[in-house]
Amino acid sequence: MYDLVIIGGGPTGLNVALAAEKAGIEYLVLEKGVLVNSIYHFPVNMTFFSTSQKLEIGETPFISHTDKPTRKEALEYYRRLQQAYELKVKLYEPVTRMERVGEEEAYEITTSKAVYQAAHVVVATGFYDTPRMLNVPGEDLPKVKHYYDDVHPYVGQRVLVVGAANSACDVALETYQKGATVTMAIRQHELYPKVKYWIKPNVENRITEGSIKAHFNTEVKAIYPDRVDLEGPDGVFTIPNDFVLAMTGYEPNYALLAALGLPISEDAAAMPLHNEETLETPLPGVYLAGVVCAGRRTSKLFIENTRDHGDIIIQQILARKGTSAK
Ligand SMILES: Cc1cc2nc3c(=O)[nH]c(=O)nc-3n(C[C@H](O)[C@H](O)[C@H](O)COP(=O)(O)OP(=O)(O)OC[C@H]3O[C@@H](n4cnc5c(N)ncnc54)[C@H](O)[C@@H]3O)c2cc1C
Repeated sequence: MYDLVIIGGGPTGLNVALAAEKAGIEYLVLEKGVLVNSIYHFPVNMTFFSTSQKLEIGETPFISHTDKPTRKEALEYYRRLQQAYELKVKLYEPVTRMERVGEEEAYEITTSKAVYQAAHVVVATGFYDTPRMLNVPGEDLPKVKHYYDDVHPYVGQRVLVVGAANSACDVALETYQKGATVTMAIRQHELYPKVKYWIKPNVENRITEGSIKAHFNTEVKAIYPDRVDLEGPDGVFTIPNDFVLAMTGYEPNYALLAALGLPISEDAAAMPLHNEETLETPLPGVYLAGVVCAGRRTSKLFIENTRDHGDIIIQQILARKGTSAK
């Protein structure tokens, strides 16, 4: 029986673990993949938009060669953090369901390998596991990717980038710069206005000069092995194509949240219900932490602005246990 089980070993799960470690709470992190699994699956050459200082947790310095750290530096940081504090993390162990047990407020957490009991649970499962689908014929072809890792496979290829936010702009630029023929299909009449200021003008200039072809007010209708049907203001048209990079965003894994027994708001945000001050869900002793809190509004929360979640939750748990932080 643990005081606390933390589901998800991302930056947030580690942040909560560190706060628990410092408070002397007996905890365990259950992670379905590798340590900081989402970040491990980010594009290999990716640079964070936050400065390393704004990503630091537990007052542990995050050293980076430039002001904005790379994915590789972030992986090093989180590895060192876990090792330095000997954070208790079980890897490759996906949680599949959770149930309330007994008269007391305790929970049984089932993973692919074991069953655990805990008085408190933190759900820090992020949003990177479930891509937003295009829901068009041909989306299941192997040439359609919802995750982008490296530019190399796309060099010399005709690539359609779907989307207009940060990831789509990043991917369009990198594939163009390394020698792909890039077309963008953009549902709106412009790029997402909040694309980072050091990326947006670069993409706009490539579009203006015609080196990246952008179709605005345009949606993908169907994907075939050698072409794609798009629908724009003048109707349906076809472009030749080798790869579709659907950079249309991600959302929390709602099937998992249902299997954990967590209710969801019925509005467009589809937020897992929780008290925004205490982070407690309607299940007593079960908390949400990190970017999963925002539901489908995935651009609202980041590592940067959720770093206080660990301390908030641990204070709650200590109060429930009738003790105070060390
Ligand atoms: C490309 C990209 C760049 C970003 N750059 C920045 C940035 O510069 N600054 C910033 O502040 N934010 C950034 N973000 C946003 C945010 O910081 C990240 O999404 C961050 O990883 C969120 O941390 P998290 O711990 O809440 O979720 P995640 O990092 O997604 O961690 C969730 C963890 O839960 C695990 N998990 C899921 N399901 C289960 C299960 N059933 N059982 C066990 N484990 C499970 C996952 O494997 C994962 O390791 C970026 C996001 C993206 C996609």
